[in-house]
Amino acid sequence: MSVVVLTNDDGVHAPGLAALEKALAELGDVYVVAPEREQSACGHALTLHRPLRALQMGEHRFAVNGTPSDCVNMAVLGFLPETPVLVVSGINHGANLGDDVTYSGTVAAAMEGTILGVPSIAVSLLDGGDFEIAGRVARLVAMRVLVGGLPGNTLLNVNVPVQPPRGIRMTRLGHRVYKEKIVEQADPRGRSHYWIGGGEARWDDLEGTDMGAVHDGYVSLTPLHLDLTNHRALVQLNDWQGGLNAQFLSETGRWPRRGRAPAATPKRKPRRG
Ligand code: MN
Repeated sequence: MSVVVLTNDDGVHAPGLAALEKALAELGDVYVVAPEREQSACGHALTLHRPLRALQMGEHRFAVNGTPSDCVNMAVLGFLPETPVLVVSGINHGANLGDDVTYSGTVAAAMEGTILGVPSIAVSLLDGGDFEIAGRVARLVAMRVLVGGLPGNTLLNVNVPVQPPRGIRMTRLGHRVYKEKIVEQADPRGRSHYWIGGGEARWDDLEGTDMGAVHDGYVSLTPLHLDLTNHRALVQLNDWQGGLNAQFLSETGRWPRRGRAPAATPKRKPRRG
């Protein structure tokens, strides 16, 4: 049977992960490789400066002292007996919508799977929603991906509303309006400390967006890709190249000249980061 990998960013003990495991149990040879503790809002971080260890917690269950992306990286690149055919990340405790996807460890785990060439899905449930229902949605989407695959370099970001869903909508990412302020407090010794990320999220223009769908009681399915290039801006800024080059060439004549070539630097392994 094909290997399917499950991970999350709420940690290996999270009820959302258990619900996902239960819902997808029959879809393949299912392995859980998940962070040993909560890693929410860790984004796409990889652990490159200390070793990773995997604590076996069951026949097909491992807790890793790293991030969700570490877990997927390990699972896809040799930790498991076979390369997985599917990565599913979640079920996250809370939404991952719009601009917030860039902070999300749940979504980043699916990004990591996608970068490594494995079809990947991120599943999140809005606070107060039902994990069993979200599990059924995850199963439906996962089966569809297993049968039909996904377009190249594309992951699916799934958000399940609080109430039992009225249906499924294909959506684009929405935009959050940031009106919140940092919260400054004093500790018992009178020193200031700060909290960020508080306050209620506000969203603009819900039409066609992920936020709009969950707001209307639908499951939101957003295809995401990792190309952050703003292609419209690339066209709009087309004349920058000529103008900047003219300036560059007129200025380089005045730049200090290097005496001689710098000493060869020792060869290093390329690395991310
Ligand atoms: Mn989380």
